[in-house]
Amino acid sequence: MSHNRATNPQSVPLLDIVGENRPLHEEMLEAIRDVFETGRFLYGPAVTELENALAELSGAKHAVGCASGSDALLLALLAMDIGAGDEVIVPSFTFFATASAVERLGARIVFVDIDPATFNLDPAKVEAAITPDTKAVIPVHLFGRMANMTELQRIAEEAGIRVIEDAAQAIGSKHRDRGAGAWGDVGCFSFYPTKNLGGCGDGGMLTTSNDELAERLRLFAAHGMSPRYVHRVVGINSRLDTLQAAALCVKMKHLQRWTEARRENAARYHELFADVGLTKNITLPAAGDGTHVWNQFTIRVPNGRRDALRSHLAEQHIASEIYYPIPLHQQECFRHVSCAPGSLLESARAAAEVLSLPIFPDLTFAEQQRVVDGIASYFAARKISAA
Ligand SMILES: *Cc1c(COP(=O)(O)O)cnc(C)c1O
Repeated sequence: MSHNRATNPQSVPLLDIVGENRPLHEEMLEAIRDVFETGRFLYGPAVTELENALAELSGAKHAVGCASGSDALLLALLAMDIGAGDEVIVPSFTFFATASAVERLGARIVFVDIDPATFNLDPAKVEAAITPDTKAVIPVHLFGRMANMTELQRIAEEAGIRVIEDAAQAIGSKHRDRGAGAWGDVGCFSFYPTKNLGGCGDGGMLTTSNDELAERLRLFAAHGMSPRYVHRVVGINSRLDTLQAAALCVKMKHLQRWTEARRENAARYHELFADVGLTKNITLPAAGDGTHVWNQFTIRVPNGRRDALRSHLAEQHIASEIYYPIPLHQQECFRHVSCAPGSLLESARAAAEVLSLPIFPDLTFAEQQRVVDGIASYFAARKISAA
């Protein structure tokens, strides 16, 4: 994966992490130097500062740092005592970690299909999948667009099950007037470098408005130990390094501006694609209600043309990526997870059709124009009608 602008000026990268961080290098290095001065590499003041900032952004009462988004999911399930004999509903069209946390704890994965218009869990199908053993559902706010939390919360409350939001791609996003991470019992965030708030390595955070859960999350993230050398539960070791938090606090101040830039880029793609009239050949992501944070701008390319289009773009040095090429229910390691035939058709179709285009904040108008022209030229060269 290319994480910065290549030397070829005609190329369009998928991301530009180096460019995004460069104007902040001095400030981040200064913040990191401060951590060295105090020597508080764990549980330092920058961790608390970032926790407070994410709690405020999401609208949840508490935020708890941890080592990664994947650990956040694991910790959420641990804090809810989910394990053997329990069922947890997850989408199949998501990143691996959403489901692996369930399997890791010996609970049963129940894959549910997505709404093709949003790529997010279909609430009606979630409702139909609930059994007496269901303990939780993990909606993923895929690509930065929130799942239908109004419906999912209603269904979960009626069934008496927990909701864990996988908000790894949706920091700062909203559904109605409430932020990602403030809808479910727990929200899970990631600071993996390609996320909208990306660190200098791994990092994650949990949000909750439940005092007891907040305490349990902290307990499980610290060996279940409280006080020192008294272990109340079998926890894990999962902390957000103060060095990461220090760098992330610097970047957090720019998140709103970057999110706005992503929204402008998404709006511009909609305009540029409308100009070239490809509506029969590709499907654009729905513009939504302005609360989408566009971690990805993901189009659909039906009729088996996706991979050929991607190669055509690559020949013109235009980067694109497939998130995700194999739905989780088709992964080798989940072969034992039983799924009713035909129950995950939309997940499989999405995996075959999706293509994510560059949408990072510093993407220029000229670069977006090249992406759109590159796609238009693929269909024009094959005389595939745009009518
Ligand atoms: C990135 C991501 C994760 C995992 O986060 P890490 O910090 O990389 O462990 C989980 N779920 C989704 C949807 C993600 O995009």
